[in-house]
Amino acid sequence: MATAVKQVVVVGGGFAGVNLVKELSKNEQFHVTLVDKNNYNFFPPLIYQVSAGFLEPSNISYPFRKLFRSKKNVGFRMAQFLRVEPAENKIVTSNGDVHYDYLVFATGTQSNFFGLENVMKHAVPMKTINDAIELRNYLLQVAEKATITESEEERQKLLTIVVAGGGPSGVEISGILAEMRHSVVKKDYPELREKLWRLYLVDAGEHVLGPMSTKSQNYTQKSLEKLGVKVMLKTQVKDYVDNEVLLGDGNKIATATLIWTAGVIAVELPGIPKEVVGRGRRVMVDEFNKVQGTNNIYAIGDCSLQTTDKNFPGGHPQLAQVAIQQGVNLAKNLSNSLHNREWKPFSYKDKGSMAIIGRNKAVADIGKLHFNGLFAAGIWAVIHIWSLINYRNRIKTFFNWASAYLTRDLALRFIFRPDKRVED
Ligand SMILES: Cc1cc2nc3c(=O)[nH]c(=O)nc-3n(C[C@H](O)[C@H](O)[C@H](O)COP(=O)(O)OP(=O)(O)OC[C@H]3O[C@@H](n4cnc5c(N)ncnc54)[C@H](O)[C@@H]3O)c2cc1C
Repeated sequence: MATAVKQVVVVGGGFAGVNLVKELSKNEQFHVTLVDKNNYNFFPPLIYQVSAGFLEPSNISYPFRKLFRSKKNVGFRMAQFLRVEPAENKIVTSNGDVHYDYLVFATGTQSNFFGLENVMKHAVPMKTINDAIELRNYLLQVAEKATITESEEERQKLLTIVVAGGGPSGVEISGILAEMRHSVVKKDYPELREKLWRLYLVDAGEHVLGPMSTKSQNYTQKSLEKLGVKVMLKTQVKDYVDNEVLLGDGNKIATATLIWTAGVIAVELPGIPKEVVGRGRRVMVDEFNKVQGTNNIYAIGDCSLQTTDKNFPGGHPQLAQVAIQQGVNLAKNLSNSLHNREWKPFSYKDKGSMAIIGRNKAVADIGKLHFNGLFAAGIWAVIHIWSLINYRNRIKTFFNWASAYLTRDLALRFIFRPDKRVED
Protein backbone atom coordinates (compact mmCIF):
# COMPACT_ATOMS: atom_id res chain seq x y z
CA MET A 1 0.00 0.00 0.00
CA ALA A 2 1.44 3.40 -0.95
CA THR A 3 2.14 5.67 2.01
CA ALA A 4 0.68 9.18 2.00
CA VAL A 5 3.04 11.95 0.92
CA LYS A 6 4.41 13.75 4.00
CA GLN A 7 4.07 17.53 4.09
CA VAL A 8 7.32 19.15 5.22
CA VAL A 9 7.26 22.89 5.87
CA VAL A 10 10.66 24.59 6.02
CA VAL A 11 10.75 28.16 7.33
CA GLY A 12 13.87 29.97 6.10
CA GLY A 13 15.84 29.39 2.92
CA GLY A 14 19.40 30.18 4.01
CA PHE A 15 22.26 27.67 4.08
CA ALA A 16 20.39 25.25 6.37
CA GLY A 17 16.95 25.48 4.74
CA VAL A 18 18.11 25.29 1.12
CA ASN A 19 20.34 22.28 1.72
CA LEU A 20 17.53 20.50 3.55
CA VAL A 21 15.06 21.22 0.74
CA LYS A 22 17.54 20.13 -1.96
CA GLU A 23 18.04 16.76 -0.23
CA LEU A 24 14.33 16.22 0.48
CA SER A 25 13.40 17.09 -3.10
CA LYS A 26 15.10 13.84 -4.19
CA ASN A 27 12.41 11.86 -2.36
CA GLU A 28 8.90 12.06 -3.82
CA GLN A 29 7.36 10.73 -0.65
CA PHE A 30 7.82 14.25 0.67
CA HIS A 31 6.14 17.43 -0.48
CA VAL A 32 8.13 20.42 0.73
CA THR A 33 6.87 23.99 1.16
CA LEU A 34 9.65 26.51 1.63
CA VAL A 35 8.51 29.68 3.41
CA ASP A 36 10.78 32.74 3.36
CA LYS A 37 10.18 36.45 3.83
CA ASN A 38 12.41 37.11 0.80
CA ASN A 39 12.00 35.56 -2.63
CA TYR A 40 15.72 34.83 -2.86
CA ASN A 41 18.53 32.96 -1.15
CA PHE A 42 21.72 34.97 -0.54
CA PHE A 43 25.31 34.42 0.57
CA PRO A 44 26.04 36.41 3.76
CA PRO A 45 29.85 35.90 3.74
CA LEU A 46 30.11 38.25 0.74
CA ILE A 47 27.61 40.98 1.58
CA TYR A 48 30.44 43.24 2.74
CA GLN A 49 31.62 43.27 -0.89
CA VAL A 50 28.17 44.51 -1.95
CA SER A 51 28.44 47.26 0.70
CA ALA A 52 31.80 48.27 -0.71
CA GLY A 53 30.58 48.24 -4.33
CA PHE A 54 32.75 45.30 -5.39
CA LEU A 55 29.85 42.97 -6.14
CA GLU A 56 26.29 43.41 -7.35
CA PRO A 57 23.52 42.06 -5.07
CA SER A 58 22.59 39.65 -7.88
CA ASN A 59 26.09 38.11 -7.81
CA ILE A 60 25.41 36.62 -4.40
CA SER A 61 21.67 35.98 -4.47
CA TYR A 62 19.35 33.68 -6.38
CA PRO A 63 15.52 33.40 -6.63
CA PHE A 64 13.98 30.43 -4.81
CA ARG A 65 11.41 29.77 -7.52
CA LYS A 66 14.15 29.42 -10.15
CA LEU A 67 16.28 27.31 -7.82
CA PHE A 68 13.54 24.73 -7.34
CA ARG A 69 11.55 25.06 -10.57
CA SER A 70 12.51 21.61 -11.82
CA LYS A 71 11.45 19.98 -8.54
CA LYS A 72 7.82 18.91 -8.72
CA ASN A 73 7.58 18.18 -4.99
CA VAL A 74 8.79 21.61 -3.84
CA GLY A 75 6.61 24.72 -3.48
CA PHE A 76 7.52 28.21 -2.34
CA ARG A 77 5.54 30.73 -0.32
CA MET A 78 6.90 34.24 0.16
CA ALA A 79 5.71 35.10 3.66
CA GLN A 80 6.87 36.20 7.06
CA PHE A 81 6.51 33.49 9.71
CA LEU A 82 4.29 34.81 12.53
CA ARG A 83 3.68 31.88 14.90
CA VAL A 84 3.39 28.12 15.16
CA GLU A 85 0.33 26.36 16.58
CA PRO A 86 1.73 22.88 17.40
CA ALA A 87 -1.63 21.46 18.54
CA GLU A 88 -3.02 22.13 15.05
CA ASN A 89 0.18 21.26 13.16
CA LYS A 90 0.12 24.60 11.38
CA ILE A 91 2.07 27.83 11.08
CA VAL A 92 0.50 31.24 10.70
CA THR A 93 2.28 33.53 8.25
CA SER A 94 1.76 37.01 6.81
CA ASN A 95 0.44 35.18 3.77
CA GLY A 96 -1.96 32.60 5.23
CA ASP A 97 -1.72 29.39 7.26
CA VAL A 98 0.37 26.39 6.22
CA HIS A 99 -0.21 22.86 7.62
CA TYR A 100 2.56 20.37 8.14
CA ASP A 101 3.45 16.81 9.09
CA TYR A 102 6.99 17.95 9.85
CA LEU A 103 8.00 21.55 10.53
CA VAL A 104 11.59 22.75 10.30
CA PHE A 105 12.82 26.15 11.44
CA ALA A 106 15.90 27.44 9.63
CA THR A 107 15.31 31.13 10.27
CA GLY A 108 18.85 32.10 11.26
CA THR A 109 19.66 35.25 13.19
CA GLN A 110 19.25 39.00 13.10
CA SER A 111 21.52 41.85 14.26
CA ASN A 112 21.78 42.15 18.02
CA PHE A 113 22.13 45.70 19.35
CA PHE A 114 22.22 44.54 22.99
CA GLY A 115 19.45 46.97 23.92
CA LEU A 116 21.43 50.03 22.72
CA GLU A 117 18.49 52.05 21.34
CA ASN A 118 20.55 54.82 19.71
CA VAL A 119 22.85 52.32 18.06
CA MET A 120 19.84 50.45 16.71
CA LYS A 121 18.38 53.70 15.31
CA HIS A 122 21.50 55.28 13.86
CA ALA A 123 24.13 52.62 13.18
CA VAL A 124 24.20 50.78 9.86
CA PRO A 125 24.00 46.98 10.31
CA MET A 126 25.54 44.51 7.87
CA LYS A 127 23.42 41.38 7.94
CA THR A 128 21.16 41.31 4.90
CA ILE A 129 21.27 42.31 1.23
CA ASN A 130 19.09 45.33 2.12
CA ASP A 131 21.61 46.35 4.79
CA ALA A 132 24.43 46.04 2.26
CA ILE A 133 22.67 48.24 -0.32
CA GLU A 134 21.77 50.73 2.41
CA LEU A 135 25.39 50.86 3.60
CA ARG A 136 26.72 51.34 0.06
CA ASN A 137 24.28 54.22 -0.57
CA TYR A 138 25.06 55.71 2.79
CA LEU A 139 28.85 55.64 2.38
CA LEU A 140 28.61 57.19 -1.08
CA GLN A 141 26.27 59.94 0.11
CA VAL A 142 28.41 60.76 3.10
CA ALA A 143 31.45 61.03 0.82
CA GLU A 144 29.53 63.40 -1.49
CA LYS A 145 28.55 65.50 1.50
CA ALA A 146 32.16 65.63 2.69
CA THR A 147 33.19 67.18 -0.63
CA ILE A 148 30.95 70.21 -0.13
CA THR A 149 30.86 70.94 3.58
CA GLU A 150 32.69 74.12 4.57
CA SER A 151 33.21 73.02 8.16
CA GLU A 152 36.43 71.13 8.82
CA GLU A 153 34.91 69.60 11.94
CA GLU A 154 31.92 68.34 9.97
CA ARG A 155 34.21 66.94 7.25
CA GLN A 156 36.20 65.02 9.88
CA LYS A 157 32.97 63.42 11.13
CA LEU A 158 31.88 62.54 7.61
CA LEU A 159 35.23 60.97 6.80
CA THR A 160 35.48 58.89 9.95
CA ILE A 161 34.10 55.36 9.95
CA VAL A 162 33.80 53.22 13.06
CA VAL A 163 33.25 49.48 12.63
CA ALA A 164 31.95 47.75 15.76
CA GLY A 165 32.77 44.03 15.97
CA GLY A 166 36.09 42.35 15.20
CA GLY A 167 34.70 39.08 13.82
CA PRO A 168 35.16 38.13 10.14
CA SER A 169 32.53 40.65 8.94
CA GLY A 170 34.08 43.56 10.87
CA VAL A 171 37.59 42.63 9.76
CA GLU A 172 36.55 42.17 6.13
CA ILE A 173 34.63 45.45 5.81
CA SER A 174 37.44 47.37 7.59
CA GLY A 175 40.05 45.86 5.28
CA ILE A 176 38.17 46.53 2.06
CA LEU A 177 37.34 50.15 3.05
CA ALA A 178 40.98 50.74 4.02
CA GLU A 179 42.15 49.58 0.61
CA MET A 180 39.47 51.65 -1.16
CA ARG A 181 40.86 54.85 0.37
CA HIS A 182 43.75 54.81 -2.06
CA SER A 183 42.36 52.78 -4.94
CA VAL A 184 38.99 54.56 -5.14
CA VAL A 185 38.37 57.52 -2.81
CA LYS A 186 41.56 59.36 -3.67
CA LYS A 187 40.83 59.06 -7.41
CA ASP A 188 37.06 59.65 -7.41
CA TYR A 189 36.97 62.51 -4.91
CA PRO A 190 39.74 64.95 -5.85
CA GLU A 191 38.00 67.59 -3.69
CA LEU A 192 38.99 65.62 -0.61
CA ARG A 193 42.66 65.55 -1.66
CA GLU A 194 44.61 63.87 1.13
CA LYS A 195 41.68 63.85 3.55
CA LEU A 196 40.83 60.19 3.30
CA TRP A 197 38.57 58.07 5.50
CA ARG A 198 39.79 57.48 9.05
CA LEU A 199 38.90 53.95 10.07
CA TYR A 200 38.46 52.46 13.54
CA LEU A 201 37.72 48.83 14.35
CA VAL A 202 36.37 48.47 17.89
CA ASP A 203 35.91 45.16 19.72
CA ALA A 204 35.22 44.27 23.34
CA GLY A 205 37.42 41.13 23.17
CA GLU A 206 41.17 40.79 23.53
CA HIS A 207 41.73 39.84 19.89
CA VAL A 208 40.16 40.26 16.48
CA LEU A 209 38.72 37.04 14.97
CA GLY A 210 37.99 35.59 18.45
CA PRO A 211 37.59 31.87 17.58
CA MET A 212 40.57 31.67 15.17
CA SER A 213 44.19 30.72 15.99
CA THR A 214 46.54 33.19 17.71
CA LYS A 215 48.65 33.28 14.52
CA SER A 216 45.60 34.31 12.50
CA GLN A 217 44.57 36.91 15.06
CA ASN A 218 48.02 38.50 15.21
CA TYR A 219 48.50 38.49 11.44
CA THR A 220 45.07 40.07 10.96
CA GLN A 221 45.59 42.82 13.52
CA LYS A 222 49.01 43.71 12.09
CA SER A 223 47.70 43.71 8.51
CA LEU A 224 44.79 45.98 9.39
CA GLU A 225 47.10 48.37 11.21
CA LYS A 226 49.44 48.43 8.20
CA LEU A 227 46.44 49.37 6.06
CA GLY A 228 45.81 52.29 8.41
CA VAL A 229 42.93 50.90 10.51
CA LYS A 230 43.09 51.84 14.19
CA VAL A 231 42.24 48.59 15.99
CA MET A 232 40.80 49.22 19.47
CA LEU A 233 40.50 46.00 21.50
CA LYS A 234 38.96 45.50 24.99
CA THR A 235 36.76 48.45 24.08
CA GLN A 236 32.98 48.42 24.11
CA VAL A 237 30.60 50.69 22.24
CA LYS A 238 28.26 52.10 24.89
CA ASP A 239 26.13 54.57 22.93
CA TYR A 240 25.88 56.56 19.71
CA VAL A 241 24.51 60.05 20.23
CA ASP A 242 24.71 63.17 18.02
CA ASN A 243 27.22 61.54 15.69
CA GLU A 244 29.52 60.53 18.51
CA VAL A 245 30.35 56.95 19.44
CA LEU A 246 30.71 56.69 23.21
CA LEU A 247 33.21 54.02 24.27
CA GLY A 248 33.40 52.00 27.49
CA ASP A 249 36.58 53.80 28.61
CA GLY A 250 34.78 57.15 28.40
CA ASN A 251 36.42 58.24 25.12
CA LYS A 252 34.33 59.40 22.17
CA ILE A 253 34.81 59.17 18.41
CA ALA A 254 33.03 61.78 16.29
CA THR A 255 31.66 60.01 13.23
CA ALA A 256 28.70 60.03 10.87
CA THR A 257 29.11 56.29 10.23
CA LEU A 258 28.94 53.48 12.75
CA ILE A 259 28.89 50.08 11.01
CA TRP A 260 27.45 47.43 13.32
CA THR A 261 28.75 43.87 13.03
CA ALA A 262 29.02 43.28 16.79
CA GLY A 263 26.51 40.53 17.40
CA VAL A 264 23.55 38.44 16.33
CA ILE A 265 20.54 36.95 18.06
CA ALA A 266 18.28 34.18 16.74
CA VAL A 267 15.04 35.24 15.07
CA GLU A 268 12.12 35.01 17.52
CA LEU A 269 9.84 32.00 16.98
CA PRO A 270 6.47 32.65 18.68
CA GLY A 271 4.64 29.46 19.63
CA ILE A 272 7.82 27.62 20.63
CA PRO A 273 7.70 27.01 24.43
CA LYS A 274 9.82 29.56 26.33
CA GLU A 275 11.55 26.77 28.32
CA VAL A 276 13.34 25.56 25.20
CA VAL A 277 14.67 28.94 24.13
CA GLY A 278 18.32 29.11 25.18
CA ARG A 279 21.42 31.30 24.86
CA GLY A 280 21.21 33.90 22.10
CA ARG A 281 17.51 33.03 21.77
CA ARG A 282 18.53 29.79 20.01
CA VAL A 283 16.03 26.94 20.21
CA MET A 284 17.30 23.92 22.14
CA VAL A 285 17.26 20.73 20.09
CA ASP A 286 18.21 17.09 20.65
CA GLU A 287 20.92 15.18 18.76
CA PHE A 288 18.60 14.88 15.72
CA ASN A 289 17.73 18.61 15.73
CA LYS A 290 14.24 17.95 17.10
CA VAL A 291 13.03 20.87 19.24
CA GLN A 292 12.99 19.65 22.83
CA GLY A 293 9.51 18.73 24.09
CA THR A 294 7.92 18.59 20.61
CA ASN A 295 7.02 15.66 18.35
CA ASN A 296 7.49 16.87 14.82
CA ILE A 297 9.20 20.28 14.99
CA TYR A 298 12.88 20.70 14.16
CA ALA A 299 15.37 23.58 14.15
CA ILE A 300 18.61 23.67 12.17
CA GLY A 301 21.41 26.16 11.54
CA ASP A 302 21.98 29.39 13.43
CA CYS A 303 18.57 29.39 15.14
CA SER A 304 19.24 26.07 16.91
CA LEU A 305 21.30 25.22 19.98
CA GLN A 306 22.52 21.64 20.12
CA THR A 307 24.72 20.53 23.01
CA THR A 308 24.81 16.80 22.30
CA ASP A 309 27.80 16.81 19.93
CA LYS A 310 30.72 15.64 22.10
CA ASN A 311 33.17 18.08 20.48
CA PHE A 312 30.81 21.05 20.97
CA PRO A 313 29.23 20.68 24.42
CA GLY A 314 28.40 24.40 24.56
CA GLY A 315 26.69 24.34 21.13
CA HIS A 316 28.07 24.77 17.63
CA PRO A 317 29.52 28.01 16.26
CA GLN A 318 27.03 29.89 14.08
CA LEU A 319 28.68 29.13 10.75
CA ALA A 320 27.58 28.24 7.24
CA GLN A 321 29.10 24.74 7.37
CA VAL A 322 27.19 23.81 10.53
CA ALA A 323 23.93 24.97 8.91
CA ILE A 324 24.63 23.07 5.66
CA GLN A 325 25.58 19.85 7.44
CA GLN A 326 22.56 20.00 9.78
CA GLY A 327 20.24 20.51 6.81
CA VAL A 328 21.64 17.48 5.00
CA ASN A 329 21.65 15.29 8.13
CA LEU A 330 18.03 16.11 8.96
CA ALA A 331 16.92 15.36 5.38
CA LYS A 332 18.60 11.95 5.57
CA ASN A 333 16.97 11.25 8.94
CA LEU A 334 13.51 12.23 7.69
CA SER A 335 14.01 9.82 4.79
CA ASN A 336 15.18 7.17 7.29
CA SER A 337 11.87 7.51 9.10
CA LEU A 338 10.01 6.49 5.94
CA HIS A 339 11.99 3.25 5.80
CA ASN A 340 12.03 2.53 9.55
CA ARG A 341 15.79 3.04 9.54
CA GLU A 342 17.65 4.36 12.57
CA TRP A 343 18.28 8.09 12.81
CA LYS A 344 21.85 9.38 12.82
CA PRO A 345 22.79 11.93 15.50
CA PHE A 346 24.35 15.14 14.17
CA SER A 347 28.10 15.47 14.45
CA TYR A 348 29.82 18.53 12.98
CA LYS A 349 32.81 18.06 10.68
CA ASP A 350 34.87 21.21 11.06
CA LYS A 351 36.38 22.08 7.68
CA GLY A 352 38.29 25.11 9.03
CA SER A 353 37.74 28.83 9.08
CA MET A 354 39.11 31.79 7.20
CA ALA A 355 38.85 35.52 6.73
CA ILE A 356 40.14 37.94 4.12
CA ILE A 357 41.72 41.24 5.12
CA GLY A 358 42.76 42.74 1.81
CA ARG A 359 43.92 42.19 -1.75
CA ASN A 360 46.68 39.69 -0.99
CA LYS A 361 46.02 39.20 2.69
CA ALA A 362 43.91 36.50 4.28
CA VAL A 363 44.11 33.96 7.08
CA ALA A 364 42.99 30.34 7.07
CA ASP A 365 43.01 27.77 9.89
CA ILE A 366 42.48 24.28 8.52
CA GLY A 367 42.82 21.61 11.18
CA LYS A 368 46.13 22.34 12.90
CA LEU A 369 47.47 24.16 9.85
CA HIS A 370 47.62 27.94 9.56
CA PHE A 371 48.01 29.84 6.30
CA ASN A 372 48.21 33.54 5.63
CA GLY A 373 49.00 36.04 2.88
CA LEU A 374 48.46 35.50 -0.83
CA PHE A 375 48.14 31.71 -0.54
CA ALA A 376 45.35 32.02 2.06
CA ALA A 377 43.67 34.68 -0.11
CA GLY A 378 43.74 32.17 -3.01
CA ILE A 379 42.13 29.44 -0.88
CA TRP A 380 39.53 31.96 0.37
CA ALA A 381 38.65 33.05 -3.18
CA VAL A 382 38.32 29.50 -4.55
CA ILE A 383 36.15 28.33 -1.62
CA HIS A 384 33.89 31.37 -1.77
CA ILE A 385 33.41 31.18 -5.54
CA TRP A 386 32.70 27.46 -5.26
CA SER A 387 30.19 27.97 -2.43
CA LEU A 388 28.00 30.36 -4.44
CA ILE A 389 24.70 28.79 -5.27
CA ASN A 390 24.90 28.40 -9.05
CA TYR A 391 27.14 28.77 -12.08
CA ARG A 392 25.77 32.17 -13.11
CA ASN A 393 26.70 33.66 -9.73
CA ARG A 394 30.12 32.00 -9.81
CA ILE A 395 30.99 33.31 -13.27
CA LYS A 396 29.79 36.86 -12.54
CA THR A 397 31.59 37.01 -9.21
CA PHE A 398 34.79 35.60 -10.72
CA PHE A 399 34.61 38.22 -13.49
CA ASN A 400 34.02 41.08 -11.02
CA TRP A 401 36.86 39.94 -8.78
CA ALA A 402 39.28 39.41 -11.64
CA SER A 403 38.65 42.89 -13.03
CA ALA A 404 38.81 44.46 -9.54
CA TYR A 405 42.08 42.63 -8.87
CA LEU A 406 43.68 43.70 -12.13
CA THR A 407 42.46 47.31 -12.14
CA ARG A 408 42.32 47.84 -8.33
CA ASP A 409 38.96 49.45 -9.06
CA LEU A 410 35.34 48.62 -9.79
CA ALA A 411 32.57 50.82 -11.06
CA LEU A 412 29.61 49.70 -8.92
CA ARG A 413 29.38 52.96 -7.08
CA PHE A 414 25.83 54.11 -7.72
CA ILE A 415 23.35 55.67 -5.34
CA PHE A 416 20.16 54.08 -6.62
CA ARG A 417 17.95 54.74 -3.63
CA PRO A 418 18.79 57.97 -1.79
CA ASP A 419 18.87 57.39 1.94
CA LYS A 420 16.92 59.83 4.11
CA ARG A 421 19.47 59.35 6.90
CA VAL A 422 21.88 61.83 5.26
CA GLU A 423 19.24 64.51 4.66
CA ASP A 424 18.08 64.45 8.32
C1 LIG B 1 27.95 39.48 7.23
C2 LIG B 1 28.08 38.01 7.55
C3 LIG B 1 29.24 37.33 7.18
C4 LIG B 1 29.38 35.97 7.47
N1 LIG B 1 30.52 35.32 7.08
C5 LIG B 1 30.63 34.00 7.31
C6 LIG B 1 31.77 33.27 6.83
O1 LIG B 1 32.69 33.86 6.25
N2 LIG B 1 31.81 31.93 7.05
C7 LIG B 1 30.81 31.26 7.71
O2 LIG B 1 30.87 30.04 7.86
N3 LIG B 1 29.73 31.92 8.17
C8 LIG B 1 29.62 33.26 7.98
N4 LIG B 1 28.53 33.93 8.43
C9 LIG B 1 27.51 33.17 9.20
C10 LIG B 1 26.62 32.41 8.24
O3 LIG B 1 26.12 33.28 7.26
C11 LIG B 1 25.50 31.78 9.03
O4 LIG B 1 26.05 30.88 9.96
C12 LIG B 1 24.53 31.05 8.11
O5 LIG B 1 23.95 31.96 7.21
C13 LIG B 1 23.44 30.35 8.92
O6 LIG B 1 22.57 29.74 8.03
P1 LIG B 1 21.03 29.57 8.40
O7 LIG B 1 20.43 28.83 7.26
O8 LIG B 1 20.89 29.03 9.76
O9 LIG B 1 20.45 31.06 8.46
P2 LIG B 1 20.43 32.18 7.33
O10 LIG B 1 21.43 31.92 6.28
O11 LIG B 1 20.49 33.46 8.09
O12 LIG B 1 18.99 32.04 6.68
C14 LIG B 1 17.82 32.36 7.36
C15 LIG B 1 16.69 32.49 6.37
O13 LIG B 1 15.47 32.62 7.10
C16 LIG B 1 14.66 33.65 6.54
N5 LIG B 1 13.85 34.19 7.62
C17 LIG B 1 14.26 34.74 8.78
N6 LIG B 1 13.21 35.11 9.54
C18 LIG B 1 12.11 34.76 8.85
C19 LIG B 1 10.72 34.87 9.12
N7 LIG B 1 10.25 35.39 10.26
N8 LIG B 1 9.85 34.44 8.20
C20 LIG B 1 10.29 33.90 7.04
N9 LIG B 1 11.60 33.76 6.74
C21 LIG B 1 12.50 34.18 7.62
C22 LIG B 1 15.69 34.64 6.00
O14 LIG B 1 15.12 35.44 4.97
C23 LIG B 1 16.79 33.71 5.48
O15 LIG B 1 16.56 33.33 4.15
C24 LIG B 1 28.35 35.29 8.16
C25 LIG B 1 27.19 35.97 8.52
C26 LIG B 1 27.06 37.33 8.22
C27 LIG B 1 25.80 38.05 8.62
